[in-house]
Amino acid sequence: MTLEVEALAAAYGPAPALADVALSVGEGEVVTLLGRNGMGKTTTVRAIMGLLPSVGGRVTGGRLAFGGAALGGRPPHAVARLGLGLVPEGRQVFPTLSVRENLVATARPGPWDLRAVYGLFPRLEERAANLGRNLSGGEQQMLAVGRALMTNPRLLILDEATEGLAPLVRAEIWACLERLKREGQSILLIDKNLSHVLRLADRHVILEKGRTVWSGDSAALAAAPELRERFLHV
Ligand code: ATP
Repeated sequence: MTLEVEALAAAYGPAPALADVALSVGEGEVVTLLGRNGMGKTTTVRAIMGLLPSVGGRVTGGRLAFGGAALGGRPPHAVARLGLGLVPEGRQVFPTLSVRENLVATARPGPWDLRAVYGLFPRLEERAANLGRNLSGGEQQMLAVGRALMTNPRLLILDEATEGLAPLVRAEIWACLERLKREGQSILLIDKNLSHVLRLADRHVILEKGRTVWSGDSAALAAAPELRERFLHV
């Protein structure tokens, strides 16, 4: 199942946010979406997941498809049913549900069940009865990843999943992503940690002002300091 995004355009009210985004994620591939703050990474993910209307935005052009099925216009639950799972920016765990309830709320059958997620993040099992709002930031991030895995996604999308975490937790999230990659999980990743994404990802897509300006593999990106200087440094 391949995710295909072609000539994607989107806006919030009258303000354009995306003008021409192109990317693809093939079966078992790990692809990162890179670019400085405000260049359109989160908006691209929201467009894919059908989440733009809920934040006052809309897709204004282009083509979005997963496994050949058009995504444009589908509401978030229908996109999820096609096999796309999101770890959203800012985690967004359900604050008044317990850890266990958070995990099962959107679960779908497959290899990722409670036991598998607790095996991946033992801390979540220890905290199973605690409410989402009483977790530390790191625990919330593990919960957000676990919750997305429990939907047994064909493609897992993570938006800044290592942002603002203590080093140990961050290392745990990277280890989790490396394991998922080894197991053949398709992943679309937004993350600013270049050294990690160069190691983990097969390909990279750079956005600048709502447009795809470069795409290529890790070797090409590692060998192009001018690209990093121009498009990635803040
Ligand atoms: P960041 O790393 O800061 O999250 P980003 O690359 O993900 O950046 P987006 O969040 O997609 O960028 O933002 C793209 C543009 O859309 C920016 O100009 C931003 O101000 C605007 N934007 C994002 N969300 C909204 C919203 N809910 N309403 C209006 N404008 C928005």
